[in-house]
Amino acid sequence: MSRIYNFSAGPAMLPEAVLLQAQAELPDWHGAGASIMEMSHRGKEFVSVHARAEQDVRDLLGVPDDYHVLFLQGGATTQFAAVCMNLLHGKTRADYILTGSWGKKAISEAKKYCDVNVAAAPKGETFTSIPAVDTWSLGPDAAYVHYTPNETIDGVEFHWVPDTGDVPLVADVSSTILSRPIDVRRFGLLYAGAQKNIGPAGVTLVIVRKDLCGEALPLTPSAVDYAQQAKADSMLNTPPTYTVYLAGLVFQWLKAQGGLSAMASVNERKAAKLYAAIDASNFYRNSVEKACRSWMNVPFVLADADLDQEFLDGAEAAGLTTLKGHRSVGGMRASIYNAMPEAGVDALIDYMADFEKRVGR
Ligand SMILES: *Cc1c(COP(=O)(O)O)cnc(C)c1O
Repeated sequence: MSRIYNFSAGPAMLPEAVLLQAQAELPDWHGAGASIMEMSHRGKEFVSVHARAEQDVRDLLGVPDDYHVLFLQGGATTQFAAVCMNLLHGKTRADYILTGSWGKKAISEAKKYCDVNVAAAPKGETFTSIPAVDTWSLGPDAAYVHYTPNETIDGVEFHWVPDTGDVPLVADVSSTILSRPIDVRRFGLLYAGAQKNIGPAGVTLVIVRKDLCGEALPLTPSAVDYAQQAKADSMLNTPPTYTVYLAGLVFQWLKAQGGLSAMASVNERKAAKLYAAIDASNFYRNSVEKACRSWMNVPFVLADADLDQEFLDGAEAAGLTTLKGHRSVGGMRASIYNAMPEAGVDALIDYMADFEKRVGR
């Protein structure tokens, strides 16, 4: 078996141990004579897989009992709308902190349902920093405050949690969840598509304070109504059973690694050495302000964009794939989620140094 180091922003790498376990269990799960994906979602086997996955999320993140943990569908993109439909509670306004491309999308979707107040946004066209908190225009009449703790495309990450007082804080944690411990209590709602740090695409994790549920807009589809889904144990309709199972294996793997504190140390170290290599070179550049550089997504440009394709081809030949940056920002992007081994980051750094030497800079 020959596995590449895949720097894709998502769907991203999965831990090799998880893939091997899934492979071994595929045709005959725990002596059931069938694979998980062939089983009824109401049967005791899958119900046990689902319950364990939920419990493991609760253990890993320290989710308090007064929060629901839901496994939904439709990705983070569906949550852009679901958040409004569930949390407006008779109010008409919501505050959004804009620090990158995904926040922009969340805002345009929210505008269908409420008055969006963009409480903070960067001055220019590019996203390389977090506007100073004393410039934010948060209002007490907002139903909630939404932000994106890690902007996957731009590589801008909050290394702190905003204080919004009694106004519920909503976070799109798609590309940072499980990369480090967080204090769930600080949030009214956390949501994440799975395909970055949770598992394969197809499931959306929603962690929501119970008292915020039950007042969805009347037109809310049942499948995105948190109260209805919570009442049905996230099985109001057929859940993505195999994806939940694989996510469950990832949660078990995270526990075996020592949990989120252990992951945080590795992730911080991986990111620090990659940024150090970029900063030490005159050939590579990352423009994000140092205090808000992402641990998960590291965009960088080459001094000469005409060399981009040569860089990518050489990387591919060295088993380092999907390094091309998002089309909106260009250059390169290395996504180094939980499942990217530190050896993969080391291999990338070595390749970058070699390439720089080779092109004579
Ligand atoms: C990937 C991503 C999304 C989109 O997720 P989907 O599951 O494709 O809808 C939204 N927000 C962030 C921060 C992301 O990284």
